[in-house]
Amino acid sequence: MSNPHAVVTGGAGFVGSHLVDSLLDDDFEVTSLDNFGSGRPENLEHIKSDRFNSVEHDVRNPFPDLDDADYVFHFSSRASPKDFESHAVEIALANSEGTHNALEFARKHDARTILASTSEIYGDPEVHPQNEEYNGNVNLRGPRSPYDESKRFSEALAVAYQEQYDLDIRTVRIFNTYGPRMRPDDGRVIPNFLSQALNREPLTVYGDGTQTRSFCYVSDLLDGIRPFARAEKETAAGEVINLGSTEEIKILTLAETIIDVLDADSDIVFRDLPEDDPKVRRPDISRAKQLLSWEPNVSLESGIKRTLPYFENELGVSID
Ligand code: NAD
Ligand code: UDP
Repeated sequence: MSNPHAVVTGGAGFVGSHLVDSLLDDDFEVTSLDNFGSGRPENLEHIKSDRFNSVEHDVRNPFPDLDDADYVFHFSSRASPKDFESHAVEIALANSEGTHNALEFARKHDARTILASTSEIYGDPEVHPQNEEYNGNVNLRGPRSPYDESKRFSEALAVAYQEQYDLDIRTVRIFNTYGPRMRPDDGRVIPNFLSQALNREPLTVYGDGTQTRSFCYVSDLLDGIRPFARAEKETAAGEVINLGSTEEIKILTLAETIIDVLDADSDIVFRDLPEDDPKVRRPDISRAKQLLSWEPNVSLESGIKRTLPYFENELGVSID
């Protein structure tokens, strides 16, 4: 039998490139579709396998005519709040028109689809921790809404395709994930703090730093996505699961932790809190635990240590 073929949108991005690696490890043929907007060809340069193909493609356009596909992993979307305003239209369309194109492609090939959703669909949550039944508290017209609402629409479209065409679609709501291959200028908090500490600059905490997040190391995320994608149809078709760390931390404590782990001599400075910045975030992962026996096991300190060499190399500076 030939190897299953997975089409990964956003394969040149942070999560997407790790996903490509893991699929190749699992003997898939893999085609990445990416417009190299926030992703980089360098993230795929290490791949020598002849089972891999990288195609420059913008998912806002109908997908290229590939011979076959068994799986579609729809992961293409800028994900940094820094881009939510500067790339608002592209983000909104990548998660609406792009999802439409991904689902039409999956329908044509009768491919199983794994859709990357986000904890952002819960907005500034009033239920804590967030479970999959919670409908969220999103500002429809705020600066984050092109991302949040298009991800919500993406899920709605997935439900529609699942219902109307009986497609096998599985949705992962990803909570803050970090690791090597995040761009140092990505704008998200861990790349910012690591870059600032390595450059001996002050760490910029937005607001008073009492807002919380739960940070998942990328290998833990992949350890959840892999069995979810592979699970029997009866178990997982149409399912939605949260994937993320339950180790909740205040952003000010994160800054202090990074300074400690790196033994850096940076100060902490406070900057304005962006509008609609969620005050708390932590996933309820009971469903993923029950379905997949999954739970993350890389501590924040250990994940930071594993991420550090990549940032040292990217920035050409070392903490020593
Ligand atoms: P990323 O920016 O590193 O990766 C996104 C990839 O999608 C990039 O390679 C980019 O070039 C590509 N892309 C964007 N718009 C495109 C378009 N119109 N056409 C084709 N390609 C396009 O971000 P990431 O953190 O790796 O996020 C990957 C996915 O995971 C996204 O769907 C994101 O919403 C989701 N997610 C990530 C996190 C996280 O913490 N990393 C959290 C929640 C959800
Ligand atoms: N943040 C910060 N300093 C930074 C970047 C981000 O204090 O340099 C805060 C941000 O306001 C938010 C949290 O860190 O409360 C996580 O931000 P990120 O952009 O990584 O992702 P979000 O969870 O907001 O989507």
